[in-house]
Amino acid sequence: MTAVASDTGFTISPKVGYVEANPMNNSIRSTEWMNEGNCRNFPPAVFFPADGAGVDRGRLICATCPVVSECLEYALAEHIDHGVWGGCSERERRRIAKRRRIEVRSASH
Ligand code: SF4
Repeated sequence: MTAVASDTGFTISPKVGYVEANPMNNSIRSTEWMNEGNCRNFPPAVFFPADGAGVDRGRLICATCPVVSECLEYALAEHIDHGVWGGCSERERRRIAKRRRIEVRSASH
Protein backbone atom coordinates (compact mmCIF):
# COMPACT_ATOMS: atom_id res chain seq x y z
CA MET A 1 0.00 0.00 0.00
CA THR A 2 1.34 3.39 -0.89
CA ALA A 3 1.07 6.59 1.11
CA VAL A 4 -1.52 9.08 -0.07
CA ALA A 5 -1.92 12.79 0.55
CA SER A 6 -4.86 13.63 2.81
CA ASP A 7 -7.05 16.68 2.62
CA THR A 8 -5.27 18.00 5.71
CA GLY A 9 -2.03 18.25 3.77
CA PHE A 10 -0.45 15.47 5.74
CA THR A 11 0.50 12.13 4.29
CA ILE A 12 -1.54 9.21 5.49
CA SER A 13 0.65 6.41 6.67
CA PRO A 14 0.51 3.18 4.73
CA LYS A 15 -0.12 1.59 8.14
CA VAL A 16 -3.56 3.16 8.30
CA GLY A 17 -6.86 1.56 7.60
CA TYR A 18 -6.72 -1.72 5.79
CA VAL A 19 -7.52 -5.31 6.53
CA GLU A 20 -4.76 -7.72 5.88
CA ALA A 21 -4.99 -11.42 5.26
CA ASN A 22 -2.05 -13.36 6.63
CA PRO A 23 -1.33 -16.30 4.32
CA MET A 24 0.84 -17.90 7.01
CA ASN A 25 -2.00 -18.47 9.46
CA ASN A 26 -5.11 -17.79 7.38
CA SER A 27 -6.12 -15.03 9.77
CA ILE A 28 -7.77 -11.84 8.74
CA ARG A 29 -6.73 -9.28 11.27
CA SER A 30 -8.68 -6.06 11.52
CA THR A 31 -6.51 -3.00 11.40
CA GLU A 32 -9.22 -0.42 12.03
CA TRP A 33 -7.32 0.68 15.14
CA MET A 34 -4.75 2.16 12.77
CA ASN A 35 -7.22 4.93 12.02
CA GLU A 36 -6.65 6.17 15.57
CA GLY A 37 -2.85 6.06 15.45
CA ASN A 38 -0.83 9.22 15.90
CA CYS A 39 1.22 8.20 12.86
CA ARG A 40 -1.67 9.05 10.56
CA ASN A 41 -0.53 12.67 10.85
CA PHE A 42 3.10 12.04 9.92
CA PRO A 43 4.95 10.91 6.83
CA PRO A 44 5.59 7.14 6.82
CA ALA A 45 9.34 7.75 6.69
CA VAL A 46 9.20 8.94 10.31
CA PHE A 47 8.38 5.38 11.35
CA PHE A 48 10.91 3.72 9.09
CA PRO A 49 14.04 5.60 10.18
CA ALA A 50 17.57 4.96 9.06
CA ASP A 51 19.22 5.62 12.42
CA GLY A 52 18.74 5.66 16.19
CA ALA A 53 17.83 9.34 16.29
CA GLY A 54 15.02 8.60 13.86
CA VAL A 55 13.83 5.74 16.05
CA ASP A 56 13.68 8.12 19.01
CA ARG A 57 11.53 10.53 17.02
CA GLY A 58 9.11 7.77 16.12
CA ARG A 59 9.01 6.55 19.72
CA LEU A 60 8.10 10.03 20.93
CA ILE A 61 5.09 10.11 18.62
CA CYS A 62 4.07 6.61 19.68
CA ALA A 63 4.38 7.54 23.37
CA THR A 64 1.08 9.42 23.30
CA CYS A 65 -0.67 7.17 20.80
CA PRO A 66 -4.04 5.83 21.98
CA VAL A 67 -3.54 2.51 20.19
CA VAL A 68 0.05 1.77 21.16
CA SER A 69 -0.81 -1.64 22.66
CA GLU A 70 -2.80 -2.77 19.65
CA CYS A 71 -0.01 -1.61 17.38
CA LEU A 72 2.71 -3.45 19.26
CA GLU A 73 0.68 -6.67 19.46
CA TYR A 74 -0.10 -6.45 15.74
CA ALA A 75 3.56 -6.00 14.84
CA LEU A 76 4.56 -8.92 17.05
CA ALA A 77 1.80 -11.19 15.74
CA GLU A 78 2.57 -10.36 12.14
CA HIS A 79 6.34 -10.58 12.61
CA ILE A 80 6.89 -7.13 11.16
CA ASP A 81 10.62 -6.68 10.85
CA HIS A 82 10.92 -3.05 9.84
CA GLY A 83 10.04 0.25 11.39
CA VAL A 84 8.80 1.61 14.68
CA TRP A 85 5.53 -0.01 15.75
CA GLY A 86 3.91 0.27 19.15
CA GLY A 87 6.70 2.51 20.33
CA CYS A 88 9.32 -0.17 19.74
CA SER A 89 12.14 -0.55 17.28
CA GLU A 90 12.80 -3.77 15.40
CA ARG A 91 15.40 -4.76 17.98
CA GLU A 92 13.05 -4.11 20.87
CA ARG A 93 10.29 -6.17 19.27
CA ARG A 94 12.71 -9.04 18.70
CA ARG A 95 13.61 -8.92 22.40
CA ILE A 96 9.96 -8.90 23.45
CA ALA A 97 9.17 -11.81 21.13
CA LYS A 98 12.15 -13.79 22.44
CA ARG A 99 11.20 -13.12 26.06
CA ARG A 100 7.64 -14.26 25.38
CA ARG A 101 8.83 -17.45 23.70
CA ILE A 102 10.99 -18.22 26.74
CA GLU A 103 8.09 -17.53 29.09
CA VAL A 104 5.78 -19.83 27.11
CA ARG A 105 8.41 -22.59 27.09
CA SER A 106 9.00 -22.18 30.82
CA ALA A 107 5.29 -22.30 31.57
CA SER A 108 4.84 -25.53 29.59
CA HIS A 109 7.58 -27.40 31.46
S1 SF4 B 1 1.94 3.22 18.28
FE1 SF4 B 1 3.15 4.47 16.87
S2 SF4 B 1 3.26 3.30 14.95
FE2 SF4 B 1 1.62 2.44 16.21
S3 SF4 B 1 -0.27 3.41 15.53
FE3 SF4 B 1 0.53 4.61 17.24
S4 SF4 B 1 1.83 6.19 16.37
FE4 SF4 B 1 1.47 4.66 14.78
